[in-house]
Formats: sequence, structure tokens, C-alpha cells
Amino acid sequence: MKTNNEKKARKLGLTTWIFLALLGGMATGCILHYLVPDCYFKDTILIGGIFNVVGNGFLRLMQMLVVPLVFCSIICGSSAIGDTKTLGKVGIKTVIFYLCTTACAIAVALSVALIIKPGLGIPESALQTSESVEAIETTSLTDTLLNIIPKNPVQGLAEGNMLQIILFAIIIGIILAKIGERAELVSNFFAQFNDIMMEMTTMVMSLAPIGVFCLIAKTFSGIGFSVFLPLIKYMLSVLTGLGVHLFIVYSAMFFLFTRLNPYHFIRKYLPVMGFAFSTATSNATIPLAIETLYSKMGVSKKISSFTIPLGATVNMDGTAIMQGVAVVFASEAFNIPLTGADYATVILTATLASIGTAGVPSVGLVTLTMVFASVGLPTEAIALIMGIDRLLDMARTTVNITGDALCTSIVAYQDKAMDINVFKKKQ
Ligand code: ASP
Repeated sequence: MKTNNEKKARKLGLTTWIFLALLGGMATGCILHYLVPDCYFKDTILIGGIFNVVGNGFLRLMQMLVVPLVFCSIICGSSAIGDTKTLGKVGIKTVIFYLCTTACAIAVALSVALIIKPGLGIPESALQTSESVEAIETTSLTDTLLNIIPKNPVQGLAEGNMLQIILFAIIIGIILAKIGERAELVSNFFAQFNDIMMEMTTMVMSLAPIGVFCLIAKTFSGIGFSVFLPLIKYMLSVLTGLGVHLFIVYSAMFFLFTRLNPYHFIRKYLPVMGFAFSTATSNATIPLAIETLYSKMGVSKKISSFTIPLGATVNMDGTAIMQGVAVVFASEAFNIPLTGADYATVILTATLASIGTAGVPSVGLVTLTMVFASVGLPTEAIALIMGIDRLLDMARTTVNITGDALCTSIVAYQDKAMDINVFKKKQ
């Protein structure tokens, strides 16, 4: 039997390893890009072969866990909560939190961008050569709402349609709670399958340092920093917006609603943030987020099992920040002044776009076309920022998933579903 101290040392070890892997991956990627000349070994064997297979293999292992874990844990969570009234209360509170933090994120982004003015000084030639990006069709609100109900739940599960999975699982959970003993076998099945998935998450996570190292090394070996130069002010604006939202807005909110130390919250959540940074996908971080909130912050899985998958699908504060800055950037670069009403439209459409943004890499750029269309900005500007988006995607995904965890912790705290002793424990 491992003692508690041994377990603690092992966990601390993993967190540290993930960060060492992150730094090591960045350094290796930069060395490969700048110091090692292109050759078969570097391009095909190392970057295209080993880093690609090991990094993406790890990512796929994490993605493999998402659907079964979300499905089982929501069933267990909602059957444990039992009554629809409490579930509804938690759901509504969470959605309101998600929407408010996103609107606030865009306001932060617009303010930062209006101060830094990222679009001034972009050379005329850059604007002329940029291609346009096809605008996406916006789905009407009624269709979006209807789409939450799966016509075929098996298809919803197979396609990984998170909102459909959440709805179907909640209904099963409620019915399990209602009919009790009559469905004991099924209840036990889902509870045990859920345990298996959590165990699998821990197993896969032990590979995280290797996976993170390979993913980051591959990304950085392909990024030349010279491409950032003309867009440095744009990048700076996005990163400042993300920083302000993460360290100031989130910390203030966490303290305001829970009176707990926000520094502990961020420190304990660092491994999940590191993982989100290296993969740039909110969806893949769901299993790790639920597990970390439970084991390090004492947040009950009854709450996190559905607020985290919901947040990974609809709550994208980081993406909204990028979109807010991009709007100011495009309006300045193409000299299309926006009015106060336009900015209000941007806050509204970017909040809706964030709901429609799937938690996978680069989708934020696709839904940005919807925001641009709402105020008549040219999609050529998106082509301009596309080349440097990967690094910003990594940073905004980190904020996206932290926002989910923040709202989850606050809701859990208010619902007395957070063990404060676990949260306060130094780990
Ligand atoms: N990569 C982001 C996420 O998974 C979405 C985006 O902004 O592209 O949260």
C-alpha cells in the first residue's frame, strides 16, 4: 500500500514533469527550427515521425476517453443529484455564469485592443495580398436549440456531439434516480464503468510528459518567429487580454464568490492548463479537468461531470478575447471605423460564436467569420492572422478551460458540493 505522502510525491512529480516537458519541447522545437538544417532525419523521422506519432497518439488516447467518460459520469452525477429542480438550478446558474464571463471577456479584449491599437501600421502590401476566408453560414437559434435533442442518441455518441450526449445522459440519470432499485443493475454498471474510465484517465495521464514534449516540440519546430513580427501588436493585445482575464477577472470573481485564495486555484489547476496549452483542444482536457477538480480542489463530480463538458462546448472566454481583438485589428487595418452599436453587436455575436465554437484546434478562427459578418468587416483580415494563430490558439484554450473550472468551482461552492479541506490542502 502506498502511503499518502508517497502518493503526494508521485502527483507533484507528474505536474513538474509536465512543465519540464513543456519547456523542453519549446527549446527542442526552437533548436530544430533555427539550428538544425532541413534533412531527412529531422523532417521525416524526428518531426513527421516520432514527434507526430507519439504526440498525436497521446492526444488520441485522451480523446478516446472523452465520450464514454462524459456519458457515464453525467449519468452518475445526475442520478446522484436526483431531483430535476436541483439539476435545473445548477444548470441555469452555470449557463448564466458562462455567458456573463464570456461577455466580460470580450469587453476586456475590446478595451485592451482599443488601447494597444493592433491594426495600425500594417503595411498596405500585406492587406492587398491576403486572401479572403469563406464566411460560415450561421445556424439560427431555433436550429441550434433543436440540435441539442438527438434524433438518434447512438449517432450523437458516435459523433461526439457533446450537447446531445449531455442531454441524453441527464435524462437517463434522472430516470435511474426515479425508479431506484428496479434499475440497480444499470446504475451499478454505469458507476463501475465510470470508475474504469477514471482509472484509464490516470493511466493515460502518466504518459502526459512524453506526449506534451512531442506535441510542443513539433509545433515549435514549425513556427518561425519572424512571421510574428508584423503582427506583434495583435499578438500582444490577445495575450494581454488573456492575461488580464485569467489573472485579474477570474481571481477577483473566485475570491468574491468563495472567499477562497485564487492563487491556490490557479496553482492547483496548472497541470490542466499546461495540457490545454500543448494540445489546443478543450474537449481532450475534459477527463483531466474533472479528475483534477475532484482530487485537488474537492469539487464533487456530481457537479463537474456535467458543467465541465458543457463548458468545454459552450464556454470559450479565451476564444472570445481573440475575436474581440481581431475585430479591432481588422477595423483599424482596413480603416473601417466601428460605432458603439457595432461594438455592442460584437459582444453579442462573439458570445454566441463562443457557444458555437467546438473545443478543438482553430475553430475559433472559423466562427470569427460570423462575428466579422455581423459588423461588415472583411474576412481578408482573418487570412492575415491565420498564419500565427496556432500559438494564440494554445494560449486561448488555456483560458477557455480555466473559465470552465472557475465557474464549476463557484457553482459547486455555492451548492455545498466542494470540500474546502481538500482545496486548502497543500498538494
Ligand atoms: N482551440 C479552442 C478550444 O479548444 C477553440 C478555438 O478557439 O479555436 O477551446
